[in-house]
Amino acid sequence: MTPEESAELATLLEDRLLAAEHRAMAVGVELAQVRGARADSVDDEHDPEGSTLSSDWSRLDGLARAAAVQRVAIEEALDRMEAGTYGACIRCGLSIGLDRLRARPEAVHCIECARELER
Ligand SMILES: [Zn+2]
Repeated sequence: MTPEESAELATLLEDRLLAAEHRAMAVGVELAQVRGARADSVDDEHDPEGSTLSSDWSRLDGLARAAAVQRVAIEEALDRMEAGTYGACIRCGLSIGLDRLRARPEAVHCIECARELER
């Protein structure tokens, strides 16, 4: 990886970190609203509005978790970049392709390992 490529990926990572933080914050606000609305609705199971709130809740909760997981993954990628280990697959040690890193800069596996792990 050239210094230019590494700088490009560092910028991508920082942009994505900010985006994940914003998403986590926006979802947090929505969760607080749903929590407030839920406290008002007494019968969650049988009230049609209550069940909408429940599904809102699980959708938002899923989004919040995904944003948190992504944030950690990006922070770890930035740490690896600082340590000089960024871009190497943590499973086989080969370098992760630049195209893959551009699409998913927090990736820890090369495409071959990622495919095998998904099986
Ligand atoms: Zn690999």
